[in-house]
Amino acid sequence: MLSFQQLVSITQGRLVQFVQDWPVVHLLTDSRKLSQPAGTLFFAIPGKYNDGHKYLAQLYAQGVRQFIVDVQQTEELAQQYPEANILQVQRSLAALQAVAAWHRQQFTIPVIGITGSNGKTIVKEWLAQLLSPDELVVKSPRSFNSQVGVPLSVWQLNSNHTLAIFEAGISQPGEMEKLQQVIQPTMGIFTNIGNAHDEGFSSRQQKVQEKLELFKGTDLLFYCADYELLHEAIEATQLKAFSWSRSGKAADLVVSGITTAGHRTIVVYTYKGKKQRLAIPFTDEASLENALHCLAVLLYRNFPLAEIQDRLDRLQPVAMRLEMKEAINGCYLIDDTYNNDLAGLAIALDLLASQPPRSGHTLILSDLLESGMQEQDLYRQVAALIEAKGVDRVIGVGKTIQKHAALFNGRCTCYSSTAEFLEQFEAGSFRNEVILIKGARVFGFEKIVHAFQQKVHGTVLEVNLDALVHNLNFYRSKLASETKLMVMVKAFAYGSGSFEVANLLQFHQVDYLAVAYTDEGVSLREHGITLPIMVMNPSPDSFAKLRQYSLEPEIYSVELLESFIASSDPGILDKIHLKLDTGMHRLGFTASDFDVVFELLQKNPQVRVVSTFSHLAGADEALHNDFSQLQIATFRELSAEIEARLGYPVLKHILNSAGIVRFPEHQLDMVRLGIGLYGVEATGAEQEALRPVSILKTTVSQVKQIAKGETVGYSRKGIADSDKTIATIAIGYADGYDRRFSNGQGEVSINGKRMPVIGNVCMDMCMIDVTGLDVKAGDEVVVYGPQLTLVELAQKIGTIPYELLTNVSTRVKRIFYSE
Ligand SMILES: *Cc1c(COP(=O)(O)O)cnc(C)c1O
Repeated sequence: MLSFQQLVSITQGRLVQFVQDWPVVHLLTDSRKLSQPAGTLFFAIPGKYNDGHKYLAQLYAQGVRQFIVDVQQTEELAQQYPEANILQVQRSLAALQAVAAWHRQQFTIPVIGITGSNGKTIVKEWLAQLLSPDELVVKSPRSFNSQVGVPLSVWQLNSNHTLAIFEAGISQPGEMEKLQQVIQPTMGIFTNIGNAHDEGFSSRQQKVQEKLELFKGTDLLFYCADYELLHEAIEATQLKAFSWSRSGKAADLVVSGITTAGHRTIVVYTYKGKKQRLAIPFTDEASLENALHCLAVLLYRNFPLAEIQDRLDRLQPVAMRLEMKEAINGCYLIDDTYNNDLAGLAIALDLLASQPPRSGHTLILSDLLESGMQEQDLYRQVAALIEAKGVDRVIGVGKTIQKHAALFNGRCTCYSSTAEFLEQFEAGSFRNEVILIKGARVFGFEKIVHAFQQKVHGTVLEVNLDALVHNLNFYRSKLASETKLMVMVKAFAYGSGSFEVANLLQFHQVDYLAVAYTDEGVSLREHGITLPIMVMNPSPDSFAKLRQYSLEPEIYSVELLESFIASSDPGILDKIHLKLDTGMHRLGFTASDFDVVFELLQKNPQVRVVSTFSHLAGADEALHNDFSQLQIATFRELSAEIEARLGYPVLKHILNSAGIVRFPEHQLDMVRLGIGLYGVEATGAEQEALRPVSILKTTVSQVKQIAKGETVGYSRKGIADSDKTIATIAIGYADGYDRRFSNGQGEVSINGKRMPVIGNVCMDMCMIDVTGLDVKAGDEVVVYGPQLTLVELAQKIGTIPYELLTNVSTRVKRIFYSE
């Protein structure tokens, strides 16, 4: 086992402080993912948007005692953390990679490294499915293929594994060399080459060369010779390769026939001079390519044909993301039914732990398969993980977990099979809990998900939680370290779902939330949100509720202040926020109110001002820069006067999302982030840096042919100027699909093609002209998403993205997911 002292030579670091030689069991790079402090080594890694060094104090308080840092000033660290081992290195990330590379060298098993533009994760998962009957496979969890993800994947290797499969992804030159040193693959798969991350490289050739670095020391490289660029580059190296082709190229495996038969694809191929046929249980292009890579590996390993067919038949699609959805009796599901190993369980439990408790956290868990560990050790680790993540109730499904139920301190109810669980399933015994459903494929847990799920109406808004975090971090990177962050979650978090978004923000430790109305704040509190919350439009009849739920009102007029004071109790402190009108002319005090305001506040010290703020009217447009500057100057002056007259400091804030980008020098004490979090950069200058957060999707209900001259929809507005194919889709203005999209103003994307609206948008549906496109009932329709952006759609009908976002009706189901 690795000990702290060994790290000095492995990382070529300098010991800042050495207390005791503890073993290094867990590697940690994200403070929120801490599970067992003892044995954890934390790497403080500075990132583009965040810096691991900010979390040392918190981790120390939680019991972590081993740190690797790359800051210069280390004397203070030793004083601050007297009981910790601290090692200083040149770059923490390089140290993490060096530690993983060292770990990799302790093993001599075959290691398959996979890279390429697409399909890495699927090929990895499928190979594991196909080979695991004979091998104990360790693999990258989900798509852990980055500079940080790869070392963490490799760290899982233990002496029971017989085969490792790791994926590697890069976006810049120089990165693959490092991943090669960590993975040290003995065999490789280069899936394909496409345009992903082209921008990071001078040419496609350079990208290929860079990716080939992974295979430097391999004995054999599998690839598809039909990618010309790839083929040439590999031919030019000394690498021993196993190639396959479906376009008649000379290759080790030549595919000569591909036909679909129902849900299967029949493949005819020649290998070692023999012509054979096999069926692959998928029909789409991407799956076919992925399966052919796997076939090449199976053939190379000399599996008999019947065995290959048998294993291919059992291939399962790979869910690429964790989904969260509403379920029966106020429950909330985290659906992760595609695999179940220790690393995957840890990731899913992190997501569960980040949810507010509601009435409890429940885990439904199947047997874990192929961990390479002794059963007893494995379930002891599972139990420790569950304990560390604060799970309240565990339901075990499977004979093995049942056998080890005693390890779970009486918290685990077990069933021998999914069928037995479903037989005894009583919906009434689950209420307001967050339920993580985590099972290996063979357990068919989708049946359990189904039993819990509410009916889904055809239209859904999918919200990408990772994109939200990315955007949050982008704005955080613009802030000075002492600037606080208030996030606006008014209007159902700009339509994205208040509680879920607020919960994520709480987990990511923003300082304040703001809502428009008291009821919105109450609902957040009822869902377990404990952050301070400002209410922007508190009506006097809601003051009692405000106090009951510790919500803080925005006070904007003398009348409102008077009535708030009248309802206050001199013995109980109330926090308020003073809104100033500096030119928006919506709500707020002006200087002429000050005498009255301060007299009232002086007489009523139980009402304490915690912040004062104002709002910019035109921060999104450069045209209004002078006016914005004037507003800022006025605010600085008035807020200084407020502090002087109150005699105590208050938080001062004026910047919204656009302001953060445009006037970074005026952050003051806090900023108020709104639309930017949801993926729209209002000034337009840095739109590229944000990720789109939501995709609005619906389905085709019916397809019909109409003849030239016929009309479509109400008022007969859609006139067919030729014979047409029309698709009716399940979204209308009552769902938030604006009626201004009628008659060709709007477009939706069906099967990847943009198609115009024909006729008027109806209340619950609208019609799309799909002439020339292969469309059938049930097909998915994207109303907006990464390819059809909110900004573009808003422009089409002369509005702003804010309106489109907030218009999505609450009857549209929100699905939250993490990649
Ligand atoms: C909505 C709102 C914000 C956020 O504005 P964005 O343009 O969405 O960033 C900030 N401050 C106040 C007072 C608001 O009402």
